[in-house]
Amino acid sequence: MRKIKIQPPDSLAWQRWDKKCQKATQKNWAKVNRGEQPEFDGNLYKKYKDFFMDAAFHGKCGYCECPVKDFQHGDVEHFRPKAQVTKEKDEPIDHPGYHWLAYDWQNLLISCQKCNQISQRGKQKIGKGCRFPVLGIHAQTPETIAQEKPLLINPTSDLPEDLPSKHLAINADGTLQGLTDRGKTCIQVFGLNIREQLVSQRKIAYRESLLLQAALKSNSPEERDRAIQEIIAIKKGKEPYSIAQIEAVRALKALSKS
Ligand SMILES: [Zn+2]
Repeated sequence: MRKIKIQPPDSLAWQRWDKKCQKATQKNWAKVNRGEQPEFDGNLYKKYKDFFMDAAFHGKCGYCECPVKDFQHGDVEHFRPKAQVTKEKDEPIDHPGYHWLAYDWQNLLISCQKCNQISQRGKQKIGKGCRFPVLGIHAQTPETIAQEKPLLINPTSDLPEDLPSKHLAINADGTLQGLTDRGKTCIQVFGLNIREQLVSQRKIAYRESLLLQAALKSNSPEERDRAIQEIIAIKKGKEPYSIAQIEAVRALKALSKS
């Protein structure tokens, strides 16, 4: 997981979509206020992909950084679940879901199916589903959201405390280390250390990053330039599993300061 910068585009298509989303949200408020169930139009919130799949997510899953664009359709994931909420081990709680965030672009992100949908791996459930563990109690209204303390991390959040690198670090074997309870909860919920392909791809990415760090010290200017360009792409979050290559970014930073 890496920080993903979301910049709403300055386009007519965006304004139209945003307006439709606001209308759909108001419609649901009216329903809820009449004691009815909210309804969700998947075709509407899935349009989020059109704006951000390439521009912000670089074709990758926001949680595990696997490439989704060319291999799957890519899910549009609700960070705060829209219709039902369960705890870390998927135990249901009495909460109607965060229906007013169903079309809120700040609550949406692109993810792979493994991270978004619940499946069973041995005795462990992996994938988010409706899981949304928090420290303390879940917010039930828009007014109390700011006090809520999610145990998962939204990589698109601009809050400094949500920066993924504060919570997760890479080990040389490709596994992730949870530096905080939130980092550990992400590893657990998304199965980040038990999905073998994910671990082995991160291990490869980590080794590549060691090679890039060595290339920065090369005597060949071409080799150094190539390494710098590759590290810049990693820094921008363009590369899959770039969390495993963070040391190469730091090495380039150190070099440019010296
Ligand atoms: Zn994923």
